[in-house]
Amino acid sequence: MSSVPDRLVPLSDGNSMPILGLGTYAMGPFVKGETVEAVKAAIEIGYRHFDGALVYGNEDEVGEGIRAKIADGTVKREDIFYTGKVWMTYLSPSLVRKALEKTLKTLQLDYVDLFIIHWPMGLKPREKLWIPKDASEKIVIEDVDFCESWLVMESCKDAGLVRSIGVSNFNHKQLETILKMPNLKYKPVCNQVECHPYLNQDKLLKYCQCNNIVLVGYSPLGTNSPNNVSRKSPILLNDPVLKKIGEKHRKTTAQVVLRYQVQRGVAVIPKSFNPGRMKQNREIFDFQLSDEEMEVINGLNKNIRYIDLKMLTDHPKYPFRDEY
Ligand code: NDP
Repeated sequence: MSSVPDRLVPLSDGNSMPILGLGTYAMGPFVKGETVEAVKAAIEIGYRHFDGALVYGNEDEVGEGIRAKIADGTVKREDIFYTGKVWMTYLSPSLVRKALEKTLKTLQLDYVDLFIIHWPMGLKPREKLWIPKDASEKIVIEDVDFCESWLVMESCKDAGLVRSIGVSNFNHKQLETILKMPNLKYKPVCNQVECHPYLNQDKLLKYCQCNNIVLVGYSPLGTNSPNNVSRKSPILLNDPVLKKIGEKHRKTTAQVVLRYQVQRGVAVIPKSFNPGRMKQNREIFDFQLSDEEMEVINGLNKNIRYIDLKMLTDHPKYPFRDEY
């Protein structure tokens, strides 16, 4: 097992989050049992923070992996930090708690450590959760007042079903809308957004840091989204500048981009189900990037968003029309 303890980031509600977690969104087709084995291996390697969601379709296996490692005595429940998410079809205030209860039932856990609003956009409830990639099925937009949903999130925290609450894919104006709620009881502890050197989120990061909101960077390795290929977007891990910096430190490009984030205070949740790469992605606390290297990496920003949900650009709450 890894001897390096996870660095913890304090959250505004007094809890804390390991700065490095394992992403669990695996693009299908699913291999049954693969996620269970990956989560078990990750815990052996030293991961304690897991990022999941009901909509990923493998939350049951994430729960099974965690429970197996609790049962065999490797970890206790309180050692694990699990993040779940309210999907768009559950954003209406009447469904938020149901979403959390569904997640808990799927995981077979009594509470989650963090529950976040997945997107600020609501969709009319539908049986299939995932948004179809083509126009074959109609999705119906629902303009939910996410402040009302936030009040239900707060009540879930008060009920002890979740330790901390936060948001994901909110732009700074949407965050501000929540922060300015007259009846706000708990502010979001985090905003989970796409973040990597090609989309470094500099302005959003500053905004979050000023407001004591942790920025959690998803797709920190540039994801394996088909958008990379179909739109001919440059592939982050092939960047020659990052590769050269890695060679200097005897680190891989993946390790450089993850180190870059933790060094600027961004929590990261790289996904890998490959034990070798899972291990590699944790070996980022034994080297430091110089100020000059950090500046060079900042200079690589191209505002490339690999995950942009273009099919929802007409949604009134689409978050990516604003600069940040
Ligand atoms: P990542 O940027 O984490 O990239 C994952 C890809 O990189 C996989 O194909 C993985 O393959 C590969 N990989 C992992 N480690 C290495 C390495 N060291 N060297 C080379 N390749 C590597 O993409 P994700 O989009 O999965 O983002 C991470 C997590 O963020 C998700 O799993 C999910 O939990 C969360 N997320 C949240 C979103 C939100 O809306 N809130 C949206 C998107 C993601 P392999 O498994 O074979 O190692």
